[in-house]
Amino acid sequence: MTIDLTKEIQRRRTFAIISHPDAGKTTLTEKLLLYGGAIHLAGSVKARKAQRHAVSDWMEIEKQRGISVTSSVLQFDYNGYRINILDTPGHEDFSEDTYRTLMAVDSAVMLIDAAKGVEAQTKKLFKVCKQRGIPIFTFVNKLDRHGKSAFELMEEIEKVLGIQAYPMNWPIGVDGNYQGVYNRQLAQIELFQNDGSHGQWVMPSVIGSVDDPAFTEIIGKDIHQALCDDIALLDMAGETFDIKRVLRGELTPMFFGSAMTNFGVRPFLEEFLRLAPPPTPRLSTAGPVEPDNELFSAFVFKIQANMNPAHRDRLAFIRICSGKFTRGMSVYHVRSGKTLKLTQPQQFLAQDRSIIEEAYPGDIVGLFDPGIFSIGDTLVAEGHTLAFEDFPVFPPERFARVQAKDTMKRKQFVKGVTQLAQEGAVQVFRQLDAGFESFIIGAVGQLQFEVLQYRLKHEYGVELMFQPLPYELARWLEAEDIDLKTLRGMDRSMLVRDGRERPVALFTNEWSLRFVEEHNPKVRFLPAPPDA
Ligand code: GDP
Repeated sequence: MTIDLTKEIQRRRTFAIISHPDAGKTTLTEKLLLYGGAIHLAGSVKARKAQRHAVSDWMEIEKQRGISVTSSVLQFDYNGYRINILDTPGHEDFSEDTYRTLMAVDSAVMLIDAAKGVEAQTKKLFKVCKQRGIPIFTFVNKLDRHGKSAFELMEEIEKVLGIQAYPMNWPIGVDGNYQGVYNRQLAQIELFQNDGSHGQWVMPSVIGSVDDPAFTEIIGKDIHQALCDDIALLDMAGETFDIKRVLRGELTPMFFGSAMTNFGVRPFLEEFLRLAPPPTPRLSTAGPVEPDNELFSAFVFKIQANMNPAHRDRLAFIRICSGKFTRGMSVYHVRSGKTLKLTQPQQFLAQDRSIIEEAYPGDIVGLFDPGIFSIGDTLVAEGHTLAFEDFPVFPPERFARVQAKDTMKRKQFVKGVTQLAQEGAVQVFRQLDAGFESFIIGAVGQLQFEVLQYRLKHEYGVELMFQPLPYELARWLEAEDIDLKTLRGMDRSMLVRDGRERPVALFTNEWSLRFVEEHNPKVRFLPAPPDA
């Protein structure tokens, strides 16, 4: 059992792809599945994206807008590895779900459009990965088109994101017409043969030593010389490769390719699987929990409601941290103190759900939620207690005041808002001295507001009056005895309390935050709750 457990852990790679919309995440995911043999003809993930309306048990709002509101999980095998890709919503209006997904991975692939470089959302997601210290692997995409030079992109990553980059391979050819990649560690050239199929099939390639004169002939003397010059420069002036720094999130291995044509996809996948860490230990109240500890443990990182409107079910997604999961096992739910029998665990390939029999650390399992799970909850083997570290509170950036249109529906309104806040769909605040007629809602992305409105209407029968507010920053207040009424310079800000009655100030921008900070030197303004 222990040997089995260790073997299963060692072959697992659980990661997310982080990128700005349109960088090619759907395309790359599809190609990884293609190489893993999970789909035979690339195009099916994309087809699903386009044909969302055909999927009957998906949230209405996703169908209407053709976007993924909540993240799903893809599992497949490649060369003996068991791969779990946690999909993060790719739409511009992402939500806290996107961030929380990053709590459940062991590494991340940062996808960058070669022409656009480091974009806004990549920066935000990168920051969360960096804070958690997760290893980040970079894939520069769309190399089949004109883009920035490889050196320029390296410099941009280092300057804008503050992480050092180590190119594992290097594109061969001229901008817009690359023919292959050079593998720095093996000093090998791999040339790809574009077969005109637009990457529907695995791309054929030839591999050999950089010194093989046959290559000089194919790619031409000048290009061969330019490649040798680039490599000499990288070897001399660039970083040295250090896997320990990669695993600490200080150095990002960088790869070049094109998800659309499959150029560079296989070399990336194989190196990534070799270098990326298997499931890592997680911190808990009982110290670090090693994945090969035989005691089962897991935490809830996402709750998704109403995948099937007919059943009104909620699914709680757990990430297994240690031990073996078997269908029907009884586990202890630490926060409620209840023992639960897990009878209908689900696993996912895109949106097809299937019942699973067993799972190991690194795997994601969907559980039917009888209404007791919250984000961050710990599940452990019966007879044990430990709790994993609290999830960070992600500071909301958008705010709105909501209230029930029909005042007779106040009870359902309060219940609905409270439950959705518990589920982690939005953050809820109350204006100082206000009752329960209205709430101030905080969200990371606009889409969360739409989901809130939609769900209150369909699940609780409450239509909302919705008033966007001009604030962009929330700060939790900390001081000895604050008399909130005496805070100075607050005319353009608002004071509220969070769900646990802690005082919070909302500001329109950094400037107004600084102004208030300067006028209240005894108060500390924290970006997260003081005891979070
Ligand atoms: P996502 O929003 O990040 O999931 O991006 P998609 O995978 O949907 O891709 C966005 C657009 O970029 C689509 O039109 C893709 O066909 C295109 N695309 C993706 N990868 C490549 C690539 O390697 N080369 C080129 N030229 N286009 C690509």
